[in-house]
Amino acid sequence: MPREKFAHVDAWVFDLDNTLYPPQARLFDQIEARMTQFVMDQLGVDHARANHLRRHYWGTYGTTLAGLMREHGIDPGPYLVEVHDISLDHLVPDPELAAAITDLPGRRIVFTNGSAPYAERVLAARGLTGLFDAIYGVEHAEFRPKPERQAFETIFAQDGLAPERAAMFEDDPRNLAAPHEMGMRTVHVAPDRLHAAHIHHHTDDLSGFLSKLV
Ligand SMILES: [Mg+2]
Repeated sequence: MPREKFAHVDAWVFDLDNTLYPPQARLFDQIEARMTQFVMDQLGVDHARANHLRRHYWGTYGTTLAGLMREHGIDPGPYLVEVHDISLDHLVPDPELAAAITDLPGRRIVFTNGSAPYAERVLAARGLTGLFDAIYGVEHAEFRPKPERQAFETIFAQDGLAPERAAMFEDDPRNLAAPHEMGMRTVHVAPDRLHAAHIHHHTDDLSGFLSKLV
């Protein structure tokens, strides 16, 4: 079972959105609405066009922001503040997850395509403040998002993390491809199991999965 597959792991990398809280919280509905509004305001397009562009950039560049920067030279600072200005009322503290993360041996970090200040707010709402050694947002990856391998390399170099002794927990299967190539153990955290060579493990219960590893 998973336990021996993780015996060599001394660094634990977590995505934030829909990984450290359940997708049922639907925070992305709020973020997407704000992204669409931002695209409408900045590019002077209507709602339907903005929605289309948001999805198109996500599919092509990994994030809407990456597309806006590449194709329109948008300043990422105001964008990150604007789209993450959402209500976290649907998040509740998760003591079980907090305990499971606390028990992990070694370094624990968060790496999100959102911003680090937003990640801090989400972690606080989940009762996970102080459990991570570092929190990296896309601003720490020179605004290059996951799934780009360069994004992971930038963050891991900053952190001094050795990928071959690390594990990655993520809900977006695209974002596990580079970690797999780099020699990490990959865990897909999602309601549905997906079969792909770059996905080593699947769980729909992150706390339960983690508690079986130590
Ligand atoms: Mg996510």
